[in-house]
Amino acid sequence: MSNVFSLKNKVAVITGGASGIGLAMAKRFISSGAKVVIGDLSDATKVAEQIGATFIKVDVSDEESVKKLFENTRAQLGPIDIVANNAGICPEFKTLNEATKNDYEFAFKVNTLGVAFGLKYAPRYMNDGGSIINTSSLSGKMGVFGLGAYCSSKFSAIGLTQTAAVELGDRNIRVNAICPASVNTAMAQENDQSQLEMEKIMIPLNRIAEPEEVAAVAHFLAADDCAFINGQAINVCGGMTAGIGPRL
Ligand code: NAD
Repeated sequence: MSNVFSLKNKVAVITGGASGIGLAMAKRFISSGAKVVIGDLSDATKVAEQIGATFIKVDVSDEESVKKLFENTRAQLGPIDIVANNAGICPEFKTLNEATKNDYEFAFKVNTLGVAFGLKYAPRYMNDGGSIINTSSLSGKMGVFGLGAYCSSKFSAIGLTQTAAVELGDRNIRVNAICPASVNTAMAQENDQSQLEMEKIMIPLNRIAEPEEVAAVAHFLAADDCAFINGQAINVCGGMTAGIGPRL
């Protein structure tokens, strides 16, 4: 059973891999045997060196930059097996009444186009039978007060995931999305802390997720063992969507 969920010799690209959830994915994939490329807008040369990954700079909102990420990965490490389109941003907290065109455009460019470009170019450099994991959010399935721009971009990421699953099935490439509630990363720390406290009350496990707990789900989806899960958007929310608990 030692090969269960092994990623041995798989080539994986993780966008937004310089920190938070993406970095946790990179560490976990490497410890399971994968060769990992971290693609990020921030310089992750040092962190990549420390964990045994390769860093390639990318701006996921720039089509040419995304194409080069996958092109360069294949040139350096060979055909790609696993892609995590994970890079994302969260615009400032604003109600729909306050949100501007810029807020929507910023969220759309990174969170939606970032996934769309990944889904356009990665398959050209991938082995058949690979796995693509897009990081959406629980905000891709439900509205959140003050997060309209973010929610709309994350709903789109799920639509793209399902479309890609339909289009890439003939190549046996599975495409799934991960939908975390709040995760203990820089992004959550920048949020309104009183809103985080409210969220904890709504989560039966009474805490937010650690990035490693989201990376574990990505690992599950990445592995060949997970051969028949395709086109799904999987909640990683400590039971928040299950029902109303005792603290609410
Ligand atoms: P994070 O800020 O720690 O990591 C995001 C990474 O994406 C950073 O390394 C950043 O440099 C990179 N990035 C941002 N814009 C980029 C661009 N244009 N091109 C390339 N890289 C870019 O945050 P995180 O929490 O690890 O977020 C990872 C993903 O998880 C995001 O898509 C986010 O929306 C999603 N998510 C986060 C939470 C949460 O509470 N933290 C909850 C649900 C979903």
